[in-house]
Amino acid sequence: MRFDQRHLLGIEPLRPDEITTILDLSDQYVDFNRRRDKHANALAGLTQINMFFENSTRTQASFEIAGKRLGADVMNMAMQASSIKKGETLIDTAMTLNAMHPDLLVVRHPHSGAVDLLAQKVNCAVLNAGDGRHEHPTQALLDALTIRRDKGRIHRLNIAICGDIAHSRVARSNILLLHKMENRIRLVGPPTLIPSGIDAFGVEVYDNMEEGLKDVDVVMMLRLQKERMDGGFIPSEREYYHRYGLDAEKLSHAKEDAIVMHPGPMNRGVEIDGTLADDINRSVIQDQVEMGVAVRMAAMDLLARNLRARPSEVMV
Ligand code: ASP
Repeated sequence: MRFDQRHLLGIEPLRPDEITTILDLSDQYVDFNRRRDKHANALAGLTQINMFFENSTRTQASFEIAGKRLGADVMNMAMQASSIKKGETLIDTAMTLNAMHPDLLVVRHPHSGAVDLLAQKVNCAVLNAGDGRHEHPTQALLDALTIRRDKGRIHRLNIAICGDIAHSRVARSNILLLHKMENRIRLVGPPTLIPSGIDAFGVEVYDNMEEGLKDVDVVMMLRLQKERMDGGFIPSEREYYHRYGLDAEKLSHAKEDAIVMHPGPMNRGVEIDGTLADDINRSVIQDQVEMGVAVRMAAMDLLARNLRARPSEVMV
């Protein structure tokens, strides 16, 4: 079991064997989380601070539950009410928190690269909980775990990632991970929402759902990220749903046992039909949420092991 990272800033720096290490340990935490007694001590004595500069429901709750189940002292910073509002810079906030000796810092920020920058300024392990359009590594890992448990493997699968690729850190992290694990990736969406030069990532691009979904094993839908759009990327939501929204008819082009995924939050009736999203025979959306806690426990456990292996910076 090898995992040589000091931080989890993205999928990009991870080797395939490190991804496998996280997924293997996550499997153990899935079983653990299904027990009645959910108290472990992998993070006992450590302080975890969650700093979310952007709204989050599942990711923040998931990191908080993960830390608490592993025995960490978890603190959620209310960033909306913090000194950021008074003009403090991200780095000043980070330095202030750093002086309180946290061990794990979980950060979500609207700007791509902000979390990497912060990691250079602090002594603790930093986990990226989503930075702008850049990366959302724990989402890609939980998606990989969901796929691996359903399909029995996370290689040589045909996977379609559909919708708003251009604004999505989920898509970017997933493309990086699925490519490293040697899957065939298709991107499906309107040309306005497919970033130029994406072919360099080893993906096939389609602007038609019927063709793009043909014989795929996995259909990964993305939220239309309206908050990141500043122009006319789509004609109308109605038209978008008609052409790119996933419904039973479009899904019929995929393999018979293809699974449907969505990172949440969902826009029902925009990128996905609500009935299909709730169909437990096809949709694994709730499984993704469950896997999220296990993956975050595994990631923090592995980072904490590396942290404990280093000499303490301050001896008390
Ligand atoms: N929750 C995911 C993210 O934070 C996906 C989304 O917001 O659409 O990127």
